[in-house]
Amino acid sequence: MTKQKVLVTGGAGYIGSHACVELLEAGFEVVVVDNLSNSKPESLARVQKITGKTLSFYQTDIRDHAALTDIFAKEAPDTVIHFAGLKAVGESCEQPLLYYHNNVYGTLVLVEVMTAANVKQLVFSSSATVYGESSSPQYSEHFPLGAINPYGRSKAMIEDILRDLSAADHKNQVQNPWKIALLRYFNPIGAHSSGLIGEDPNGIPNNLMPYIAQVAIGKLSQLSVFGDDYPTPDGTGIRDYIHVVDLVKGHLKAITALNGDKFKDGACNAYNLGAGRGYSVLEMVHAFERVTGKTINYKISPRRAGDLAECFANPELAWQELDWKVEKNLDDMVADTWHWQTLNPMGYV
Ligand code: NAD
Ligand code: UDP
Repeated sequence: MTKQKVLVTGGAGYIGSHACVELLEAGFEVVVVDNLSNSKPESLARVQKITGKTLSFYQTDIRDHAALTDIFAKEAPDTVIHFAGLKAVGESCEQPLLYYHNNVYGTLVLVEVMTAANVKQLVFSSSATVYGESSSPQYSEHFPLGAINPYGRSKAMIEDILRDLSAADHKNQVQNPWKIALLRYFNPIGAHSSGLIGEDPNGIPNNLMPYIAQVAIGKLSQLSVFGDDYPTPDGTGIRDYIHVVDLVKGHLKAITALNGDKFKDGACNAYNLGAGRGYSVLEMVHAFERVTGKTINYKISPRRAGDLAECFANPELAWQELDWKVEKNLDDMVADTWHWQTLNPMGYV
């Protein structure tokens, strides 16, 4: 396979910036399209510093059909990785239309432009939030879907749209059929080992790991542990945390798969990207204390609405079909989070 050009939507964001590093280091040409609604251009400057390579950047909203069409005409990418999207569950409950417009309509415009440009290889950032209720805490791709908030439903709708696109190509036996990987992320945390790029949440973080890191550095005074009466060994919620660098390597493996036999007649397949094991909130707190030598001030608080007791991936399909597995462990995730946090206490500013 000759090295390809990859267009990365949302490439200035947390996961997208790490993907740009891995793509550039693997020899891909990289074109980023990001409206900077939740990121700063400094992340891309740092990507270029880490890799010593350059990328092309367009500050553009993916919903701008004409601008996106021009970018595809000029850049002629082979593949798209689609990270651009809004991701805050709470905000999505308050402003559902914003989420459907940005995430669902944004993806519609993207795939329309891709179809017109005859670029039909796509890796999409989906999420474990698309899964519905299940009797097992370990989720496989065939489990029933049933997101419970507008953010999750926006991801589920996009998955439906992409499956329909692929099915239509199959039915019509088109020459260049859609090849799509839907990657369902579990809980991405950590940062690049250089400490130059990482997660830079706006305001008070919603997610556990950035919250713990900000307590450790003294920006926040106390972590609230949401519930200690779940049916888990220590009573706190269990999640499948995955190092962001492992996660983005899964995207490179997906590109290889899209170019291979499995997808040669076109397909739209979902893959869980997770470690396949979970850690509780208190295990995360204690790991952070052990690795950093800091004490994390926490208190037990009521459960957070909508939270599951336990949720972790069955990642076997990604092992088999993408040849991908996590390589980093909990200590790597904590150490890299802390390295980024201490080098950048105020984020990218
Ligand atoms: P992020 O907010 O850091 O990155 C998203 C990027 O997309 C930002 O740079 C933002 O400016 C850009 N963007 C948003 N809407 C856009 C639009 N209309 N046009 C152009 N650019 C736009 O988020 P992230 O954590 O890097 O997540 C990337 C993707 O992965 C998202 O789609 C998210 O839903 C998905 N995801 C994230 C997690 C997680 O825990 N971080 C988990 C599951 C899935
Ligand atoms: N959590 C917590 N305090 C926080 C943030 C999260 O106790 O301030 C818990 C949450 O209840 C869940 C786990 O940490 O059990 C991971 O939460 P996060 O929001 O990071 O991920 P998600 O719930 O989306 O999987």
